[in-house]
Amino acid sequence: MNMKTLITFGALLVIASAAYFYGWHRGDAGKQPDLTSAAHAGAPMVSPVKPRARDFYAPNSEKLAPDEIRVIACGTGMPTPRPAQAAACFLMELGNGEKFIFDIGAGSTERLFALQIPTAFLDKVFIGHLHGDHFGDVGALFVAGGIAGRFSPLRIWGPSGATPELGTKAAIEAMEKMYAWDLAGRLGQTDVRGFRTEVHEFDYRKEQVVYQENGVTIRAWPAIHECFITVPDLIAKYRLTPEAALQVGTQIHTAPEAFGKVMSMVKPRHAVAYHFFKDTDTTGPVLERVRKTYDGPLSLAQDYMVWNVTKAGIRERMAVVDEHTWNPPLAYPAEPVSPKDRVGYSPEIEGGRLDVSDVIEPIYQEASDALGRKFEYPTKNADSAN
Ligand SMILES: [Zn+2]
Repeated sequence: MNMKTLITFGALLVIASAAYFYGWHRGDAGKQPDLTSAAHAGAPMVSPVKPRARDFYAPNSEKLAPDEIRVIACGTGMPTPRPAQAAACFLMELGNGEKFIFDIGAGSTERLFALQIPTAFLDKVFIGHLHGDHFGDVGALFVAGGIAGRFSPLRIWGPSGATPELGTKAAIEAMEKMYAWDLAGRLGQTDVRGFRTEVHEFDYRKEQVVYQENGVTIRAWPAIHECFITVPDLIAKYRLTPEAALQVGTQIHTAPEAFGKVMSMVKPRHAVAYHFFKDTDTTGPVLERVRKTYDGPLSLAQDYMVWNVTKAGIRERMAVVDEHTWNPPLAYPAEPVSPKDRVGYSPEIEGGRLDVSDVIEPIYQEASDALGRKFEYPTKNADSAN
Protein backbone atom coordinates (compact mmCIF):
# COMPACT_ATOMS: atom_id res chain seq x y z
CA MET A 1 0.00 0.00 0.00
CA ASN A 2 1.61 3.31 -1.05
CA MET A 3 1.11 6.63 0.74
CA LYS A 4 -1.57 7.85 -1.69
CA THR A 5 -3.82 4.79 -1.16
CA LEU A 6 -3.22 5.06 2.54
CA ILE A 7 -4.45 8.63 2.58
CA THR A 8 -7.45 7.84 0.37
CA PHE A 9 -8.31 4.90 2.59
CA GLY A 10 -7.95 7.10 5.69
CA ALA A 11 -10.22 9.76 4.19
CA LEU A 12 -12.88 7.14 3.32
CA LEU A 13 -12.78 5.85 6.86
CA VAL A 14 -13.38 9.37 8.23
CA ILE A 15 -16.29 9.90 5.82
CA ALA A 16 -17.79 6.51 6.73
CA SER A 17 -17.65 7.14 10.46
CA ALA A 18 -19.06 10.67 10.05
CA ALA A 19 -22.00 9.29 8.05
CA TYR A 20 -22.58 6.58 10.63
CA PHE A 21 -22.51 9.06 13.48
CA TYR A 22 -24.91 11.40 11.66
CA GLY A 23 -27.30 8.57 10.69
CA TRP A 24 -27.45 7.18 14.20
CA HIS A 25 -28.51 10.49 15.68
CA ARG A 26 -30.81 11.49 12.85
CA GLY A 27 -32.60 8.10 12.61
CA ASP A 28 -34.14 6.87 9.37
CA ALA A 29 -37.29 8.94 9.74
CA GLY A 30 -35.47 11.83 11.30
CA LYS A 31 -36.02 10.64 14.89
CA GLN A 32 -34.31 8.33 17.41
CA PRO A 33 -34.71 4.57 16.58
CA ASP A 34 -37.17 2.71 18.82
CA LEU A 35 -34.94 0.34 20.80
CA THR A 36 -37.67 -0.82 23.20
CA SER A 37 -40.16 -2.24 20.70
CA ALA A 38 -40.25 -6.08 20.44
CA ALA A 39 -42.65 -6.04 17.50
CA HIS A 40 -41.49 -7.61 14.18
CA ALA A 41 -43.58 -7.56 11.07
CA GLY A 42 -44.25 -10.96 9.43
CA ALA A 43 -42.39 -14.28 9.85
CA PRO A 44 -38.64 -14.23 10.70
CA MET A 45 -36.29 -14.78 7.77
CA VAL A 46 -34.46 -17.58 9.63
CA SER A 47 -35.94 -20.37 11.70
CA PRO A 48 -35.48 -20.24 15.46
CA VAL A 49 -35.44 -24.08 15.62
CA LYS A 50 -34.07 -25.45 12.31
CA PRO A 51 -30.30 -25.91 11.76
CA ARG A 52 -28.45 -23.45 9.57
CA ALA A 53 -25.26 -23.95 7.58
CA ARG A 54 -22.20 -22.90 9.61
CA ASP A 55 -18.87 -21.85 8.25
CA PHE A 56 -16.58 -24.09 10.24
CA TYR A 57 -15.24 -27.62 9.77
CA ALA A 58 -16.54 -30.22 12.20
CA PRO A 59 -14.21 -33.27 11.96
CA ASN A 60 -15.66 -36.33 10.20
CA SER A 61 -18.77 -34.47 9.13
CA GLU A 62 -17.98 -33.97 5.44
CA LYS A 63 -17.17 -36.24 2.50
CA LEU A 64 -14.09 -35.49 0.45
CA ALA A 65 -14.59 -35.56 -3.31
CA PRO A 66 -12.24 -37.95 -5.18
CA ASP A 67 -10.12 -35.06 -6.45
CA GLU A 68 -10.32 -32.96 -3.29
CA ILE A 69 -7.57 -32.37 -0.69
CA ARG A 70 -8.20 -31.22 2.85
CA VAL A 71 -5.26 -29.74 4.75
CA ILE A 72 -5.52 -29.18 8.51
CA ALA A 73 -2.96 -27.22 10.52
CA CYS A 74 -2.22 -29.31 13.62
CA GLY A 75 0.78 -27.24 14.67
CA THR A 76 1.90 -23.76 13.58
CA GLY A 77 4.03 -22.58 16.49
CA MET A 78 7.68 -22.21 17.41
CA PRO A 79 10.35 -24.31 19.16
CA THR A 80 9.13 -23.42 22.67
CA PRO A 81 5.76 -24.85 23.77
CA ARG A 82 2.51 -22.86 24.02
CA PRO A 83 -0.96 -24.31 24.59
CA ALA A 84 -2.54 -22.28 21.77
CA GLN A 85 -0.10 -23.44 19.08
CA ALA A 86 1.61 -26.83 18.87
CA ALA A 87 4.86 -27.03 16.93
CA ALA A 88 4.86 -27.71 13.18
CA CYS A 89 2.40 -30.31 11.88
CA PHE A 90 0.08 -30.40 8.88
CA LEU A 91 -2.34 -33.21 8.10
CA MET A 92 -3.20 -33.76 4.46
CA GLU A 93 -6.26 -35.87 3.64
CA LEU A 94 -6.93 -36.99 0.08
CA GLY A 95 -10.16 -37.95 -1.58
CA ASN A 96 -8.80 -41.49 -2.13
CA GLY A 97 -8.73 -41.99 1.67
CA GLU A 98 -4.99 -41.57 2.14
CA LYS A 99 -3.73 -39.33 4.91
CA PHE A 100 -0.24 -37.88 5.30
CA ILE A 101 1.30 -36.09 8.25
CA PHE A 102 3.92 -33.46 7.40
CA ASP A 103 6.06 -32.82 10.47
CA ILE A 104 5.05 -34.03 13.89
CA GLY A 105 6.23 -31.20 16.13
CA ALA A 106 5.92 -31.25 19.91
CA GLY A 107 2.28 -31.08 21.04
CA SER A 108 0.77 -31.92 17.66
CA THR A 109 -0.42 -35.47 18.44
CA GLU A 110 -3.21 -34.16 20.64
CA ARG A 111 -4.45 -32.06 17.69
CA LEU A 112 -4.42 -35.15 15.45
CA PHE A 113 -6.37 -37.08 18.07
CA ALA A 114 -8.87 -34.24 18.48
CA LEU A 115 -9.77 -34.83 14.80
CA GLN A 116 -10.93 -38.34 15.81
CA ILE A 117 -9.34 -40.07 12.84
CA PRO A 118 -8.73 -43.81 13.44
CA THR A 119 -5.00 -44.11 14.12
CA ALA A 120 -4.68 -46.91 11.55
CA PHE A 121 -4.98 -44.08 8.99
CA LEU A 122 -2.36 -41.91 10.72
CA ASP A 123 0.53 -44.18 9.74
CA LYS A 124 2.55 -42.02 7.34
CA VAL A 125 4.76 -39.21 8.67
CA PHE A 126 7.09 -37.02 6.64
CA ILE A 127 9.68 -35.14 8.68
CA GLY A 128 11.15 -31.93 7.27
CA HIS A 129 14.13 -31.91 9.62
CA LEU A 130 15.06 -33.39 12.96
CA HIS A 131 14.44 -30.47 15.30
CA GLY A 132 12.08 -31.13 18.22
CA ASP A 133 9.59 -28.58 16.90
CA HIS A 134 9.31 -30.70 13.73
CA PHE A 135 9.42 -34.25 15.06
CA GLY A 136 9.21 -33.98 18.87
CA ASP A 137 5.87 -35.79 18.99
CA VAL A 138 6.89 -38.77 16.86
CA GLY A 139 7.17 -40.84 20.05
CA ALA A 140 3.73 -39.70 21.22
CA LEU A 141 2.17 -40.74 17.90
CA PHE A 142 4.18 -43.99 17.88
CA VAL A 143 2.89 -45.04 21.32
CA ALA A 144 -0.59 -43.48 21.38
CA GLY A 145 -1.31 -44.54 17.77
CA GLY A 146 -0.09 -48.05 18.60
CA ILE A 147 -2.33 -48.51 21.62
CA ALA A 148 -5.33 -46.85 19.96
CA GLY A 149 -5.65 -48.92 16.78
CA ARG A 150 -2.62 -48.69 14.49
CA PHE A 151 -1.66 -52.36 14.28
CA SER A 152 0.91 -51.81 11.52
CA PRO A 153 4.30 -50.06 11.61
CA LEU A 154 4.46 -46.29 11.80
CA ARG A 155 5.95 -45.34 8.43
CA ILE A 156 8.39 -42.46 8.63
CA TRP A 157 10.14 -40.51 5.87
CA GLY A 158 12.91 -38.12 6.81
CA PRO A 159 16.26 -36.68 5.77
CA SER A 160 19.72 -38.13 6.12
CA GLY A 161 22.31 -36.09 8.02
CA ALA A 162 25.90 -35.05 7.38
CA THR A 163 26.86 -38.26 9.25
CA PRO A 164 24.72 -41.41 9.78
CA GLU A 165 24.03 -40.57 13.45
CA LEU A 166 22.49 -37.25 12.37
CA GLY A 167 19.94 -38.93 10.11
CA THR A 168 16.32 -39.97 10.53
CA LYS A 169 17.13 -43.69 10.72
CA ALA A 170 19.40 -43.24 13.74
CA ALA A 171 16.90 -40.88 15.41
CA ILE A 172 13.98 -43.29 15.05
CA GLU A 173 16.06 -46.30 16.14
CA ALA A 174 16.98 -44.35 19.29
CA MET A 175 13.31 -43.40 19.80
CA GLU A 176 12.26 -47.06 19.65
CA LYS A 177 14.98 -47.94 22.20
CA MET A 178 13.70 -45.15 24.44
CA TYR A 179 10.30 -46.86 24.56
CA ALA A 180 11.65 -50.35 25.42
CA TRP A 181 10.12 -50.23 28.92
CA ASP A 182 6.85 -48.78 27.59
CA LEU A 183 6.51 -51.69 25.16
CA ALA A 184 7.55 -54.32 27.73
CA GLY A 185 4.87 -53.06 30.12
CA ARG A 186 2.18 -53.58 27.47
CA LEU A 187 3.16 -57.10 26.34
CA GLY A 188 0.38 -59.58 27.00
CA GLN A 189 -2.01 -56.74 27.85
CA THR A 190 -2.38 -54.85 24.56
CA ASP A 191 -2.13 -55.67 20.86
CA VAL A 192 1.30 -54.14 20.21
CA ARG A 193 1.71 -54.93 16.51
CA GLY A 194 1.90 -51.17 15.89
CA PHE A 195 5.03 -50.78 18.01
CA ARG A 196 7.25 -51.00 14.96
CA THR A 197 8.57 -48.46 12.51
CA GLU A 198 9.43 -48.47 8.83
CA VAL A 199 11.94 -45.72 8.12
CA HIS A 200 12.68 -44.27 4.70
CA GLU A 201 15.70 -42.00 4.91
CA PHE A 202 16.38 -39.84 1.90
CA ASP A 203 19.38 -37.73 0.89
CA TYR A 204 18.74 -34.26 2.32
CA ARG A 205 20.88 -32.62 -0.36
CA LYS A 206 18.82 -33.70 -3.36
CA GLU A 207 15.46 -32.90 -4.89
CA GLN A 208 13.76 -36.26 -5.31
CA VAL A 209 10.58 -38.33 -5.24
CA VAL A 210 10.32 -39.87 -1.76
CA TYR A 211 6.88 -41.47 -2.00
CA GLN A 212 4.93 -42.87 -4.92
CA GLU A 213 1.95 -45.09 -4.10
CA ASN A 214 -1.71 -45.21 -5.14
CA GLY A 215 -1.29 -42.39 -7.63
CA VAL A 216 0.25 -40.06 -5.03
CA THR A 217 3.72 -38.58 -5.54
CA ILE A 218 5.55 -36.70 -2.78
CA ARG A 219 8.78 -34.88 -3.48
CA ALA A 220 11.40 -33.55 -1.08
CA TRP A 221 13.77 -30.70 -1.81
CA PRO A 222 16.41 -28.85 0.21
CA ALA A 223 14.95 -25.74 1.86
CA ILE A 224 15.50 -23.16 4.57
CA HIS A 225 12.46 -23.56 6.76
CA GLU A 226 9.22 -21.70 7.18
CA CYS A 227 8.15 -18.08 7.67
CA PHE A 228 9.51 -16.99 11.07
CA ILE A 229 8.62 -14.18 13.43
CA THR A 230 10.18 -10.74 12.82
CA VAL A 231 13.64 -9.92 14.18
CA PRO A 232 12.33 -7.08 16.46
CA ASP A 233 9.83 -9.51 18.06
CA LEU A 234 12.50 -12.20 18.44
CA ILE A 235 14.39 -9.68 20.58
CA ALA A 236 11.40 -8.15 22.41
CA LYS A 237 9.22 -11.21 23.00
CA TYR A 238 11.36 -14.31 22.37
CA ARG A 239 14.17 -12.76 24.45
CA LEU A 240 16.99 -13.45 22.02
CA THR A 241 20.09 -11.26 21.83
CA PRO A 242 20.14 -9.04 18.70
CA GLU A 243 22.94 -11.21 17.27
CA ALA A 244 20.95 -14.42 17.86
CA ALA A 245 17.72 -12.83 16.58
CA LEU A 246 19.37 -11.81 13.30
CA GLN A 247 20.89 -15.27 12.89
CA VAL A 248 17.73 -17.23 13.86
CA GLY A 249 15.28 -14.84 12.18
CA THR A 250 17.01 -14.38 8.83
CA GLN A 251 19.55 -17.18 8.35
CA ILE A 252 18.21 -20.33 10.07
CA HIS A 253 14.59 -19.49 9.26
CA THR A 254 12.95 -17.53 6.50
CA ALA A 255 12.29 -13.88 7.36
CA PRO A 256 8.77 -12.72 6.36
CA GLU A 257 10.26 -10.51 3.60
CA ALA A 258 12.17 -13.50 2.20
CA PHE A 259 9.11 -15.76 2.50
CA GLY A 260 7.19 -13.21 0.43
CA LYS A 261 9.97 -13.10 -2.14
CA VAL A 262 9.94 -16.91 -2.47
CA MET A 263 6.13 -16.92 -2.83
CA SER A 264 6.35 -14.26 -5.57
CA MET A 265 8.73 -16.54 -7.44
CA VAL A 266 6.73 -19.75 -6.84
CA LYS A 267 3.33 -18.08 -7.42
CA PRO A 268 1.30 -20.68 -5.46
CA ARG A 269 -2.48 -20.87 -5.76
CA HIS A 270 -2.47 -20.04 -2.05
CA ALA A 271 0.47 -19.32 0.27
CA VAL A 272 0.41 -20.40 3.92
CA ALA A 273 2.87 -18.77 6.34
CA TYR A 274 3.45 -20.39 9.71
CA HIS A 275 6.10 -21.04 12.37
CA PHE A 276 5.48 -17.91 14.44
CA PHE A 277 3.47 -17.20 17.56
CA LYS A 278 0.37 -15.54 16.23
CA ASP A 279 -0.65 -12.79 18.61
CA THR A 280 -2.52 -9.56 18.00
CA ASP A 281 0.76 -7.65 18.14
CA THR A 282 3.00 -10.07 16.19
CA THR A 283 0.67 -10.87 13.28
CA GLY A 284 0.56 -7.31 11.88
CA PRO A 285 4.35 -6.95 11.58
CA VAL A 286 4.68 -10.39 9.91
CA LEU A 287 1.91 -9.53 7.41
CA GLU A 288 3.34 -6.09 6.71
CA ARG A 289 6.75 -7.55 5.92
CA VAL A 290 5.39 -10.43 3.78
CA ARG A 291 3.35 -7.88 1.84
CA LYS A 292 6.48 -5.90 0.96
CA THR A 293 7.42 -8.73 -1.38
CA TYR A 294 4.24 -10.74 -2.11
CA ASP A 295 0.71 -9.64 -3.02
CA GLY A 296 -0.90 -13.02 -3.81
CA PRO A 297 -3.38 -15.15 -1.83
CA LEU A 298 -2.09 -15.70 1.71
CA SER A 299 -2.99 -17.24 5.06
CA LEU A 300 -1.14 -16.60 8.29
CA ALA A 301 -1.82 -20.00 9.82
CA GLN A 302 -2.95 -20.93 13.29
CA ASP A 303 -3.78 -24.35 14.72
CA TYR A 304 -6.95 -25.97 13.37
CA MET A 305 -7.05 -23.83 10.25
CA VAL A 306 -8.48 -25.94 7.41
CA TRP A 307 -8.12 -25.63 3.64
CA ASN A 308 -10.25 -27.59 1.20
CA VAL A 309 -8.43 -27.63 -2.12
CA THR A 310 -10.22 -28.42 -5.37
CA LYS A 311 -9.58 -27.49 -8.98
CA ALA A 312 -12.32 -24.87 -8.61
CA GLY A 313 -10.80 -23.11 -5.63
CA ILE A 314 -9.45 -23.12 -2.09
CA ARG A 315 -11.77 -22.70 0.87
CA GLU A 316 -10.36 -21.68 4.24
CA ARG A 317 -12.13 -22.27 7.55
CA MET A 318 -11.39 -23.16 11.13
CA ALA A 319 -12.03 -26.62 12.54
CA VAL A 320 -14.06 -26.78 15.72
CA VAL A 321 -12.97 -29.72 17.85
CA ASP A 322 -13.91 -31.31 21.13
CA GLU A 323 -10.91 -30.84 23.41
CA HIS A 324 -12.12 -33.56 25.77
CA THR A 325 -10.79 -36.18 23.40
CA TRP A 326 -11.19 -39.93 23.84
CA ASN A 327 -9.46 -42.40 21.58
CA PRO A 328 -10.85 -42.51 18.04
CA PRO A 329 -12.78 -45.54 16.78
CA LEU A 330 -10.87 -48.63 15.64
CA ALA A 331 -10.55 -49.12 11.89
CA TYR A 332 -9.58 -52.79 12.35
CA PRO A 333 -10.14 -55.20 15.25
CA ALA A 334 -7.36 -55.82 17.76
CA GLU A 335 -5.87 -59.31 18.02
CA PRO A 336 -6.22 -61.21 21.30
CA VAL A 337 -3.10 -61.17 23.45
CA SER A 338 -1.60 -63.93 25.57
CA PRO A 339 -1.03 -63.34 29.31
CA LYS A 340 2.04 -65.56 28.87
CA ASP A 341 3.78 -62.64 27.11
CA ARG A 342 3.52 -60.41 30.17
CA VAL A 343 6.69 -59.24 31.85
CA GLY A 344 6.29 -60.24 35.48
CA TYR A 345 6.58 -58.06 38.54
CA SER A 346 9.66 -58.33 40.69
CA PRO A 347 9.42 -60.10 44.08
CA GLU A 348 9.92 -56.66 45.66
CA ILE A 349 6.82 -55.29 43.96
CA GLU A 350 4.80 -58.46 44.55
CA GLY A 351 5.89 -58.54 48.23
CA GLY A 352 4.85 -54.93 48.70
CA ARG A 353 1.37 -55.30 47.22
CA LEU A 354 -1.43 -54.03 49.43
CA ASP A 355 -4.21 -56.60 49.63
CA VAL A 356 -7.20 -54.86 48.04
CA SER A 357 -8.94 -58.08 46.90
CA ASP A 358 -11.93 -57.31 49.12
CA VAL A 359 -12.75 -54.26 46.97
CA ILE A 360 -11.44 -55.46 43.59
CA GLU A 361 -13.03 -58.92 43.52
CA PRO A 362 -16.55 -57.41 43.52
CA ILE A 363 -15.60 -55.49 40.33
CA TYR A 364 -14.95 -58.84 38.60
CA GLN A 365 -18.27 -60.11 39.90
CA GLU A 366 -20.02 -56.94 38.73
CA ALA A 367 -18.54 -57.36 35.21
CA SER A 368 -19.51 -61.05 35.13
CA ASP A 369 -23.09 -60.18 36.09
CA ALA A 370 -23.35 -57.28 33.65
CA LEU A 371 -21.80 -59.02 30.64
CA GLY A 372 -23.14 -62.51 31.21
CA ARG A 373 -19.84 -64.39 31.24
CA LYS A 374 -17.43 -65.35 33.97
CA PHE A 375 -14.37 -63.20 34.54
CA GLU A 376 -12.03 -65.04 36.89
CA TYR A 377 -10.43 -62.94 39.57
CA PRO A 378 -6.66 -63.45 39.16
CA THR A 379 -5.11 -65.16 42.15
CA LYS A 380 -1.78 -63.88 43.49
CA ASN A 381 0.98 -63.88 40.82
CA ALA A 382 -1.44 -65.16 38.17
CA ASP A 383 -0.73 -62.11 36.03
CA SER A 384 2.99 -62.60 36.45
CA ALA A 385 5.11 -64.63 34.06
CA ASN A 386 7.46 -65.57 36.89
ZN1 LIG B 1 11.35 -25.09 13.35
